[in-house]
Amino acid sequence: MLEHETLLDLGQEWRELAACSGRYDDLFFPINEAEKSAVRAAKAVCQTCPVQTDCLSYALETGQADGVWGGLTSRERRVERRQRQARIRRAS
Ligand code: SF4
Repeated sequence: MLEHETLLDLGQEWRELAACSGRYDDLFFPINEAEKSAVRAAKAVCQTCPVQTDCLSYALETGQADGVWGGLTSRERRVERRQRQARIRRAS
């Protein structure tokens, strides 16, 4: 875990409130995302997380390729990223 000042410097103070704090394990980074029970368990934690929106934004902005972030798997984030980009293009 990064020191508090480092998190603030990075704009990642939301991590301090993460429901998964300290759980960088098979639950959030299953070897096979097709392993539905692990993904479901991780998503259940995300549903209780007070910083889910911040977490998902961070994962999308930084292109996190693996694991469950903000309640979405890597595949779901790719879809979400494409949908957000399409909305931005339509709005401009
Ligand atoms: S949304 Fe999920 S992955 Fe993100 S910080 Fe919260 S519990 Fe962790």
